[in-house]
Amino acid sequence: AKSSGRSTYRFFEVDMDASILHRTLLEQRLRLAIADGAVLVHFQPILDMDTSRIAGFEALARWSDSDFGDVQPEEFIPIAEDCGIIHELTRHLLAQACEAAKSWPEELYLSFNLSPVQLQDLSLPDQIVAILEECGLPAKRLSLEITETSLVKNPETARRILTDLTEAGIFIALDDFGAGHSSLSYLRDFPIRKVKIDKSFTERMLVDKQCAAIVEAILVLSKGLDIDAVAEGVEQNDVHKALSSAGCHYGQGFLYAAAVSADEAIGLIASQKDG
Ligand code: C2E
Ligand code: CA
Ligand code: CA
Ligand code: CA
Repeated sequence: AKSSGRSTYRFFEVDMDASILHRTLLEQRLRLAIADGAVLVHFQPILDMDTSRIAGFEALARWSDSDFGDVQPEEFIPIAEDCGIIHELTRHLLAQACEAAKSWPEELYLSFNLSPVQLQDLSLPDQIVAILEECGLPAKRLSLEITETSLVKNPETARRILTDLTEAGIFIALDDFGAGHSSLSYLRDFPIRKVKIDKSFTERMLVDKQCAAIVEAILVLSKGLDIDAVAEGVEQNDVHKALSSAGCHYGQGFLYAAAVSADEAIGLIASQKDG
C-alpha cells in the first residue's frame, strides 16, 4: 500500500508541473493577446419575450490562441484575475463593446460582466465613465453584471462603487442569481435593478419541481421589488413558454442565439427590423 501511495504521489507531482507550465504559458500568451487586441467581445442577444425582439446584448469575451486554440472565458478570466491583468483586459473589452453598441439602435442596451476583484477597486467608476465618454455611449445604455460573490468580501467598498456607478446612470444586474451566496438582503442593500436567473434553474425547470419553484419565486420577488428579471440558459421552446407565462419578460439562451461577432450582431438587429 505504501509504495502505491508513493507512485500516486509522484504521478500527481508530474501532473501538477504540467498544469503549472500550461498555466504559465497561457498567462504569457494572454498578456500578449491583450496587448495585440486579440481578445475579442462577442454579443449574445437578450430578448423581450413578449415581442421576441432584441432588448440588448451581453458582451462575452472570446480568445483564440494560435497554439492553444479557443480558450474558454471560464479558463482565462480566472487567470487574468489572479495575475492582475483583469483590469487592463476589462478596459480593453469594454471599449470594444461600447464601440459596437454605439452602432445599435439607441433603445438597445449593452450588458457587460465585471469580475469580483473589480468591486474592490475604488477607481473603477471613474475608469468606466471615462471609457463611456471617450466612446460617446450614454451611461443609461450600460448595464454591469456582477455576482453575489462580489458583495460578500468587502460589502462597504462594493456599495461605494455600485452607488457611484448608479449615480453616473449605469444599471447594475445581479448575475447567476440564486446560484451563489444568495442573500435577499443584497437586493435591499445594494442598488440592483435587474436579476439574471441562473441557467442551472431555467435548464431544469420543466423536469425538476424545486427548480421551477425557485424560478417562480425569483419572478414574484423581482416583480414585488420592481426590478427586471432575465432568464439565462433558455434552450427549449417549452421553457420559453413556461417562463413567459410565469411573467418573465426577458430571456437569453441558445434557443434565440449564441454569442455572435459584432458584425453578426448588426445582422441580427437588421433582420428583425420590420417585425
Ligand atoms: P455568464 O456571465 O453566466 O455568461 C453566460 C454564459 O452562458 C456564456 O458562456 C454563454 O455563452 C453561456 N450561454 C448562453 N446561452 C446559453 C444556453 O442556452 N445554455 C448554456 N448551457 N449556456 C449558455 P461563456 O461565454 O463561455 O462565459 C462563461 C463565463 O465567463 C461567463 O458566465 C462569465 O462569468 C465569464 N465571462 C465571459 N466574458 C467575460 C468578461 O468579459 N468579463 C468577465 N469578468 N467575465 C466574463
Ligand atoms: Ca453574465
Ligand atoms: Ca450568468
Ligand atoms: Ca457564470
